[in-house]
Amino acid sequence: MQKIGILGGTFDPPHIGHLILAEYTMEALGLDQVLFVPVADHPHKARTRQMIDHRLRMIELAIASNERFVLSRVDMDRPGPHYSADTVAILQRDFPDAELYFVMGGDNLRSLPTWTRAEDLYRLCRLAVMRRADEAISPDMHGDLLPGLAERVTIVDVPLLSVWVSSTHVVERIRRGQSVRYLVPDAVLSYIQEHRIYQDVCDEQD
Ligand code: ATP
Repeated sequence: MQKIGILGGTFDPPHIGHLILAEYTMEALGLDQVLFVPVADHPHKARTRQMIDHRLRMIELAIASNERFVLSRVDMDRPGPHYSADTVAILQRDFPDAELYFVMGGDNLRSLPTWTRAEDLYRLCRLAVMRRADEAISPDMHGDLLPGLAERVTIVDVPLLSVWVSSTHVVERIRRGQSVRYLVPDAVLSYIQEHRIYQDVCDEQD
């Protein structure tokens, strides 16, 4: 049976954390491919709506060298808000014979109780969660708050990794005129410079 990872995110911009998450999870779970699924309309992030075309192009550039990484437009062509539980339900119809894993960083496992219809998400597919060296997360960390979650979580341990890159961090450095070389793939860096994006971002995140 085909095993497919689903990496949902804003990718605003995509960075090495996303790529490491996808690659190491793919290896640990024997996934055939990882779908990068940019959310078009994030319930809490206004800027992401305005950046759709740039984000799509940057994801394409970031994953171009890995034939097992695939850009999915599943959330692009439908009205938002886009909740992961709905996204996975659609992908399940698109890949009826595949085993689906929703791939995420430890921060997202921590915040899972705040997600809309989180229970639907982990009942539809397993969750693959990458745990870095310093992260205090575990499958049963939410106790009775999310019943049945623990059995649906697979932890992928990456004990040597402790650097925490985030899109927010990348954007902050660009705004301060600091280098983001090596935090994003070279092709993404060139794209950001060429299109002069993120340089004047200030209070657009809501
Ligand atoms: P923001 O700073 O805007 O919150 P982000 O960098 O966390 O963005 P998202 O696109 O929102 O990126 O995240 C998509 C997925 O990638 C999430 O599951 C998140 O946990 C994971 N992720 C992001 N950064 C890392 C990282 N450095 N290591 C592992 N996983 C990561």
